[in-house]
Amino acid sequence: MPRRVVVIGGGFGGLFTVRGLHGSDAEITVVDRAAHHLFQPLLYQVATGVLSEGQIAVPVRDLMRRHSNVDCLVGEVTAVDATSRTLTVERPGGGDFGLSYDDLVVAAGVRQSYFGHDEFAQHAPGMKTLADALLIRRRLFGAFEMAQTASDPLERQRWLTFALVGAGPTGVELAGQIRELATHTLKREFRRIDPGEARVLLFDGGDEPLAVFGPRLAGKAATALTSLGVDIHMHSLVTAVDENGLLVRDGTGSTTRYEAGTVLWTAGVEAPPLAGVLAEACGAEQDRAGRIKVNDDLTVPGHPEISVIGDMMSLKGLPGVAEVAMQTGFYTGRRLRAVEAGRAWDKPFHYRDLGSAAYISRGRAVVSVGRVHLAGLVGWVSWLGIHLMFLTGFRNRAGALLTWGLTFSRERRRERAFSMQALLPGRDIYDRDLFPPAAVAPERVPLEGIAPAHTDD
Ligand SMILES: Cc1cc2nc3c(=O)[nH]c(=O)nc-3n(C[C@H](O)[C@H](O)[C@H](O)COP(=O)(O)OP(=O)(O)OC[C@H]3O[C@@H](n4cnc5c(N)ncnc54)[C@H](O)[C@@H]3O)c2cc1C
Repeated sequence: MPRRVVVIGGGFGGLFTVRGLHGSDAEITVVDRAAHHLFQPLLYQVATGVLSEGQIAVPVRDLMRRHSNVDCLVGEVTAVDATSRTLTVERPGGGDFGLSYDDLVVAAGVRQSYFGHDEFAQHAPGMKTLADALLIRRRLFGAFEMAQTASDPLERQRWLTFALVGAGPTGVELAGQIRELATHTLKREFRRIDPGEARVLLFDGGDEPLAVFGPRLAGKAATALTSLGVDIHMHSLVTAVDENGLLVRDGTGSTTRYEAGTVLWTAGVEAPPLAGVLAEACGAEQDRAGRIKVNDDLTVPGHPEISVIGDMMSLKGLPGVAEVAMQTGFYTGRRLRAVEAGRAWDKPFHYRDLGSAAYISRGRAVVSVGRVHLAGLVGWVSWLGIHLMFLTGFRNRAGALLTWGLTFSRERRRERAFSMQALLPGRDIYDRDLFPPAAVAPERVPLEGIAPAHTDD
């Protein structure tokens, strides 16, 4: 009997687990609550109209089509029975099915954290999923449209004020992009407002933006942002958010209200609910962000059949970045190959830090690789190369290169379509009440024994 390997999550961790399992006879099932693998580092470019969603999201089953032993399922894992080694998977809109495993790899990532204030999410969407990026796109471009027809100058000013909470890479990238959008792309398109008047406020409780890049690059990033026209507010804690703005307590302890038509949340992550479910099922420990603490071989203590990898794992303070997810995924795939072949495995996971990069604006990015720190144009060219290398699929790489060429040389952004339909932050296709009752499956459908129908092509 081939071993049954279930991989939860079709992100970088899940994808690289399957790659590491290449050549295995195991029956592999990848289950994800979405049907696509998402290149999260470029979400902000979808939100700001540079790239289309298809350029950063590829169907998981398309990526797996050459792996005849891999089956792909769309559903959300909601329960783990570590004794019977069975998962419960909820189908979109309702109903669930069971899935058994011999080996389980959990690569379910993290979600946005509002630091105990989940009520902020309604007015300040975060950016983790494709739906988030499209919602932010609607809010950004919609704000300029609203400003154009506002007769009250105060209302117009409010629509032209964009507040970002969190000055890490995502906040900095979005802040730079909004100013570029306003001062270049939209500048000549509006007749009744000057989009260049758009204010971008960046709030963070720390000392400097992009602090993870070290003081030198952080200083360069701050200078670049200021020259773009971003108002940086460090040592600032957001204490309330509503539909018209936010309250911020600064370093002196005084609280100020800022009127802003758009508030975006780019601070903090926490493990998704699945981490708590897993911890309870197998007695695993969680860190402060809810991530699962793992052994040096990425397995859960006491459960050699369960590995937790990527963003959802907690090991020696490794950061939640794509490279960690890829390397832990590949390592786990290789380890499971050894288990399958009955070989002993005593190699602990060792992370090779390949550095990190953040985009600020056209011609400006920061890149940190070991002792090499790049900024300005050199940093930007390196950023371009790194992202082209890691973007999934040749077509997407070629498409992104062409789009960037047009965007950077002609200041045009073509991917600006957005729907006027109300999208509800924090709601998705797994929320049952978004579906009519008839669409809810009445009973649990066991999925055991359904063989993957893929063939090699
Ligand atoms: C906006 C943004 C920008 C980023 N920029 C960078 C960058 O520049 N450089 C960098 O190195 N990293 C960056 N990252 C981080 C990087 O994307 C992550 O470290 C990486 O995606 C983690 O991979 P993962 O496989 O652990 O999780 P993910 O890629 O998040 O994949 C997790 C998958 O699990 C699925 N899932 C979750 N819960 C369940 C469930 N219960 N059942 C079934 N499926 C589930 C999700 O749908 C998702 O597909 C960025 C992240 C974001 C959000």
